Amino acid sequence: MTPIAIIGAGIAGLSAAWELQQSGTSDFTVLEASARAGGCLASVRSGGFLLEQGADSFLSAKPEARELCRELGLDGELVPSAVPRTCILRDGRLLPLPAGWSLVAPTELEPVLESELFSAGVKAEIRRRFADDIAPTEAHEGLGSFLRRRWGAEAGGAILTTIAGPLLSGIYGGGPGSAERFVVPRLSSPSVAGSSPFTSLRHGMGSLIAALVARLRPGVLRLNAGVVAVDRAGGGWRLRLASGGTVACRALIMAAPAWRAAGFLREPHPRLAGVLSEIEYSSAVSVNIGFDPAPTLPAGSGFVVADARALLAATFAHQKFPGRAPAGAGVVRMFYGGPQAEWKDRRLARQAGADARGILGARLGNALKVRVDRWPRAMPQYTIEHAARMAAITRAMGEVKGLALAGNAYSGIGIPDCIASGRAAARRILGRTMGIEF
Ligand SMILES: Cc1cc2nc3c(=O)[nH]c(=O)nc-3n(C[C@H](O)[C@H](O)[C@H](O)COP(=O)(O)OP(=O)(O)OC[C@H]3O[C@@H](n4cnc5c(N)ncnc54)[C@H](O)[C@@H]3O)c2cc1C
Repeated sequence: MTPIAIIGAGIAGLSAAWELQQSGTSDFTVLEASARAGGCLASVRSGGFLLEQGADSFLSAKPEARELCRELGLDGELVPSAVPRTCILRDGRLLPLPAGWSLVAPTELEPVLESELFSAGVKAEIRRRFADDIAPTEAHEGLGSFLRRRWGAEAGGAILTTIAGPLLSGIYGGGPGSAERFVVPRLSSPSVAGSSPFTSLRHGMGSLIAALVARLRPGVLRLNAGVVAVDRAGGGWRLRLASGGTVACRALIMAAPAWRAAGFLREPHPRLAGVLSEIEYSSAVSVNIGFDPAPTLPAGSGFVVADARALLAATFAHQKFPGRAPAGAGVVRMFYGGPQAEWKDRRLARQAGADARGILGARLGNALKVRVDRWPRAMPQYTIEHAARMAAITRAMGEVKGLALAGNAYSGIGIPDCIASGRAAARRILGRTMGIEF
């Protein structure tokens, strides 16, 4: 019997493995369904371009990713985002996000008053209420309701639809309008338009995964080892693999998506499975288009979309980080979510080309590379029910021995949050934490 098994080799599962190994525990196994580790972190080099297939960076302000990179000897590989300026696509025009904007709230008044994003009436309302000190209520108030209470119906609605909603849909991948029900992000979130808030790696986010895998003890990571069923056996767990084999373990770290965990735990732990299955997910698609020569783009790292269209956001990858394209060439990355994520590759590639031409004036004759990457049911939605669900998960986990949950569904979708959740899951299994830390 293996003492510890980890299901899923995304950044959360690999971080759990790293924490176990760093704590002196070498007898564990990581079971990964696909042929590669990393989950939503993957980079590919093609024709001189460095294309990110999933995440392209992490928030610099949260320490966990930077700390992991340091432990892996990757300090010298870290690159800050070059141009933090972001635009909003509104009525077909790209308008700069007001300076000092902090995810869902302005922190400076003057840039808002100068912005073309808001009407005179909305600006007057924002000016009048700017100094008010109104926090979200304890009763898990949704973002839409909070913004209208904080800024008044008209200004709050305008902030939601013009900036806060598009920024959050860009992060969580929800379809247009989904931000209304999102939990209110902490207002101390770093300013989006301030000094360089994101960090990546010179050779792409995939190099973090490669470094982690290279430093794990040989043999602990099993690829093409998808788990299809989980049962309790002999005080521990028995995992059935798609290949037909089984793995017995005393303790289990579940680092696969919550909906997958729910399916596994339905028989042995129906109460926990019930709550896990309620966590909503959305799918994301990214379309990388490599241009040579690069199109002439607005300054900055990209834009989010306030118009009602399939496109959620776009990144100007070669302007955001160095080394993403050969000299003179460029990479524009388009993101789609909601029902459009179901579109076939050809249709998505066509749509991305039309968006690049229509919004940015890019000449498609210069497009050398088009790459579509799909992330089905990969993005948990942090809706107003989330806090209640986390409390219910914590209660249900009290009845379950030898299990820890890790991943982006619990206490944050960002890479630093996932690293923290994986490491906390490992510490819980090692008995180093008393409660349940996600
Ligand atoms: C397009 C996109 C862009 C993003 N951009 C950013 C960004 O710039 N910055 C940022 O901080 N975050 C970003 N995110 C979010 C972040 O990348 C993810 O939240 C994070 O990587 C999720 O890690 P995870 O380990 O929880 O899950 P995953 O990466 O989903 O890993 C789960 C793993 O479990 C495996 N698995 C599933 N079922 C089984 C099974 N039955 N048996 C064995 N293995 C199984 C999967 O194959 C997968 O490898 C982005 C996400 C996407 C999709």
